[in-house]
Amino acid sequence: VPERVDALVLGGGFYGAAIARHLARRDPSWRVALVEREPRLLARASYANQARIHNGYHYPRSFTTAYRSRVNLPRFVADWPQAVHQGMRKLYAIARVNSKVTPRQFERFCRNIGATLAPAERHERQLFEPRLIAAVYAVDELAFDARVLAAWAEDELRAASVEVHVATRAAALRRAGEATEATLVGPSGDERTLQARLVLNCTYSGLHQIEGLSSGCGTALKHELTEMALVDPPAALAGLAITVMDGPFFSLMPFPPAGAHTLSHVRYTPHAHWFDRPGDDPYRRLAARPHGSRADRMVRDAARYLPTIADLRQVGSLYEVKTVLCRNETDDGRPILFERHAGLPGCYSVLGGKIDNVYDAFERLDAELGRT
Ligand SMILES: Cc1cc2nc3c(=O)[nH]c(=O)nc-3n(C[C@H](O)[C@H](O)[C@H](O)COP(=O)(O)OP(=O)(O)OC[C@H]3O[C@@H](n4cnc5c(N)ncnc54)[C@H](O)[C@@H]3O)c2cc1C
Repeated sequence: VPERVDALVLGGGFYGAAIARHLARRDPSWRVALVEREPRLLARASYANQARIHNGYHYPRSFTTAYRSRVNLPRFVADWPQAVHQGMRKLYAIARVNSKVTPRQFERFCRNIGATLAPAERHERQLFEPRLIAAVYAVDELAFDARVLAAWAEDELRAASVEVHVATRAAALRRAGEATEATLVGPSGDERTLQARLVLNCTYSGLHQIEGLSSGCGTALKHELTEMALVDPPAALAGLAITVMDGPFFSLMPFPPAGAHTLSHVRYTPHAHWFDRPGDDPYRRLAARPHGSRADRMVRDAARYLPTIADLRQVGSLYEVKTVLCRNETDDGRPILFERHAGLPGCYSVLGGKIDNVYDAFERLDAELGRT
């Protein structure tokens, strides 16, 4: 007799963990299982990212994404207060040349989405090169600590009796009557199958790499192999998080899990990009590639706008695959992907785009469950 669960969640990043817990709480009688190919939860994109809890500012070219961020941020802060990193002063600067937004447009946009914006203090403005920076604003933005989210996931999934299988890869999915059957490969290459009437595929960069899923899966994905430099900022920038908008510029953000900051640069952070194809495993590409750091180039360019950044100390780099929907390449929008697989009963793929979008995923999931 094949082993059966009510719900099977593939991928133990923030989305998989939050969705598994959501399902277990929704109906405590359900048997819910989660599989993660890494040896621990939240080891991939949910760890190695800019840690920004978006509040809209980042998306002047996508009103919907900005607006949804404004709605979702307070919910995230209420639900995960322990993961919210406090005590940073956040500055957004608008470049004079090559920016896709002017200060006036940015001010109007912030008014439209109801996000607070104040002129930066004089000493803060003086950090920037005035010939290249048109305006500097203090904004209301937060960061999260992925380590705290990972600890939350461990505790909550245990408390909700979700069966968590780490170091286990979902290799294939197929129809088994009214259920979907997953082939799972364990730590020593051992295979087992598990059937479920609900399968949530939350494998982010691996979303379309599971055998049996690729056909009929029409949503094009783009992957970027990214580098964020891990840095200790110079004393002059202590306590600050800085983003220069909107185009080929950079961000300096706190990275609480490492007690450091990340420096990312729109031009140098992506080392390579490619379009998703079945059998072309992004994690294998990431593992295979020798990672020469581009931090020196990031710093050199950022120092043109913010001279004191040249005094930072690089302490490492984070390399990760970033996966986005092709259709948002130009507007930079980050809607969720929530896709039902026609040939596989109760099987859905979910791609979040950014952490706070998890509420959009919950809504879609509840709507689907209400329907069945
Ligand atoms: C460089 C970078 C910067 C970013 N900056 C931000 C930011 O500042 N703010 C923000 O909100 N978002 C940011 N994001 C996006 C954010 O990280 C993602 O939207 C979010 O982490 C996605 O969560 P997830 O659980 O879907 O993905 P992940 O955390 O990657 O989880 C997917 C999991 O699935 C596992 N998996 C894959 N294939 C299989 C398989 N076949 N079987 C079993 N397990 C599998 C993986 O190991 C992984 O743990 C950034 C992303 C990157 C890469």
